[in-house]
Amino acid sequence: MGGDTNPSRTKSRSKAINQSTRNFKRPMDSAGNYLRASQYYGQNVFYFAKSSGIPEIIKNELEECVKLGRPIQKEHASVVAKAVTEWAVKRGATHFCHWFQPLTGATAEKHDAFLDLDGERPIEKLSVSQLLQGEPDASSFPNGGSRSTFEARGYTAWDLTSPMFLMNGPNGKTLCIPTAFVSYHGEALDIKTPLLRSLSTLNTQATKFMNLIGEKNVSKVIVTCGAEQEYFLVDKNFYYQRPDLVMTGRTLLGAGTTRNQQLEDHYFGAIPERVLAFMEELDLELHKLGIPAKTRHNEVAPGQFEIAQIFREGNVSSDNNQLVMALIKSVAARHNMVALLHEKPFAGINGSGKHLNWSMSTDTGINLLEPGNELHSNTRFLAVTSIVIEAVNRHARALRAAIASHGNDHRLGANEAPPSIISVFTGSTIADVLESIKDGKEFTPSGKITLDLGANQLAQFHKDNTDRNRTSPFAFTGNKFEFRAVGSSQAIGLPLSILNAAVSEVFAESNTFIEERIAAGDTIDRALLLLCEKWMKSSWNVIFNGDGYSQEWVQEAEKRGLPNLKNSAEALEVFNSKSDVAFLTNQGIYREIELETRYNVLLERYCKLREIEFNTLIDMIHQYIVPTSLAYKKELGDIVLMQRQLKVESTVEMDIYKKINLTVETLYEDARNLSNQIKDLPHDESARAKMIAETLMPMSEQLSIFCEQLEALIPDSKWPLPTYFDMLFLR
Ligand code: ADP
Ligand code: MG
Repeated sequence: MGGDTNPSRTKSRSKAINQSTRNFKRPMDSAGNYLRASQYYGQNVFYFAKSSGIPEIIKNELEECVKLGRPIQKEHASVVAKAVTEWAVKRGATHFCHWFQPLTGATAEKHDAFLDLDGERPIEKLSVSQLLQGEPDASSFPNGGSRSTFEARGYTAWDLTSPMFLMNGPNGKTLCIPTAFVSYHGEALDIKTPLLRSLSTLNTQATKFMNLIGEKNVSKVIVTCGAEQEYFLVDKNFYYQRPDLVMTGRTLLGAGTTRNQQLEDHYFGAIPERVLAFMEELDLELHKLGIPAKTRHNEVAPGQFEIAQIFREGNVSSDNNQLVMALIKSVAARHNMVALLHEKPFAGINGSGKHLNWSMSTDTGINLLEPGNELHSNTRFLAVTSIVIEAVNRHARALRAAIASHGNDHRLGANEAPPSIISVFTGSTIADVLESIKDGKEFTPSGKITLDLGANQLAQFHKDNTDRNRTSPFAFTGNKFEFRAVGSSQAIGLPLSILNAAVSEVFAESNTFIEERIAAGDTIDRALLLLCEKWMKSSWNVIFNGDGYSQEWVQEAEKRGLPNLKNSAEALEVFNSKSDVAFLTNQGIYREIELETRYNVLLERYCKLREIEFNTLIDMIHQYIVPTSLAYKKELGDIVLMQRQLKVESTVEMDIYKKINLTVETLYEDARNLSNQIKDLPHDESARAKMIAETLMPMSEQLSIFCEQLEALIPDSKWPLPTYFDMLFLR
């Protein structure tokens, strides 16, 4: 493989192929027996309930605070601070940090040592105020102008609903305290704060709903959520030879291989040994962190994989997914691989997404999206389903905006991922039932119902394998909805908050409706069916059970009047549109200024990240593609001249020479045009984003195509960059 012209690539290949599988120590007891997962699960998590340093009475108090979202008293927090310090230090922790999610979507942490001085005596200490509140320098985090510089103070506040945990460093441990990050005036500067508000609002409305329909002992409804995370793995040797991967997380150029994913043999295929070793270690680390990683497998594209965890409460699940992403990266590095979480690292094969599995569950154990076995639970199920469908229909634009990012733009609508049109998949059985209800088929709620909503019909809900249609951005899958259009690198907190808020708004209206029906003398079941009828009449158009990837659907959706916000520049404008976001401000989930902040931050990020891509591409063209092409041209030219002297024809050489010549000239010229366009970009961020999305992106994509044509013409041994073949198949 390869010639002698490019020794560094040949070396990387050989290193990647011969890289030995990393062995790591599985936890054992003193007798040398392997520990079971259930024995080490959560060992790096501080659970109040298990702590010997917290008296029972305070444990009960803490449990109440978590359950009811009540703030904790300072004396009690002080007991927790002592107990957690003792616990963490005993396990080798030297530092603690407030762990939070700024608007970049990543997590941020600022470490402080436990070490303190009591006079001159060294001690380990985490004071109650250090536990409750931190003060990172907020000016270094994106704030979209919501803080003027004279009050550049933001603070982090302990979120006791998500447990504290220990993060392993190479030689020590850090206690991480999950926190919310707010400005001096209480404006959310993070992803978590609005998420917590949305969970609480939805809880209020859904609990009221359950009480109204007869479930009097329900006192809390939580959102349940489980994210399936997709990612690519690339050998480290190749990664560092690709400036585009290092600078932007995706390949900006690269010719496809002869075998992409057409054989469909990678999905669920045997996991390569080196990757399996990585997954084993990842699962171990996640389990120790109390994150219930459950499923691991190959994904559709070569080099692509997935991990899913068991669902749990929304806020914890959102924190969990941040840790899953961080650990995928750090554990991959131990195996000399780099994990790519970008939505579209490679052109021409599947991108990566994150399926957000979502439902609601009561403290009495009822899953609100679980079809039951009798009439009542079925009418409830149908009513709740119709509420969610109405919410998605009504706030499709906001949901689209919530998943907008430069990376996700490559997936949505790119014929391989759910399109940027938000629709709901229900499966045909449920659609039939909902349609009959919508069309006002006579139904008498007491006793005999003309519509068969009995056990027989319901068994079919499960049989109707709803999950087979992978083309829908929002699908009902048995007892939950799955928001599939979320990007793989994105924090799930934002889409989760928007979804919760949308559903919560419709719940509130539904509660009023049900109260009125009951006051008018209807039975609960009849009220629920009338509610379902009402929402199906208004949102029928959003239900689509066909092929979401087809061109016909794009036309059909337009006829139905469904929004199709094709790129982030278009989608993010939603956060700047009062009518689109009124449901967020009215319910107190975001303040107006917080939405302004998000709009500014996300738009600015979109522009910056795209500009980095353009500049990296132009740089690579000048540093690698043009010089390589010229060198090969010279080689061909020399042959042509030599053969001319020998009076031999050079048809092949001339043909390749001319093709390269033409392509490289156009490439060079177009790269200059793109460069000039970048200089001329308007300052106004909104106009800038629009121009980037509509004009500069197509230009840069054309540049990539020229590069790919050159890659196909120039011998592999002379090509200066690791190829798709290297990155996708060699590890
Ligand atoms: P797949 O979608 O790959 O076929 P499943 O549908 O079985 O796999 O589960 C995918 C994810 O959905 C898992 O993370 C699982 O924990 C989660 N899940 C299952 N039930 C619920 C629920 N009621 N609420 C939220 N998530 C759920
Ligand atoms: Mg799924």
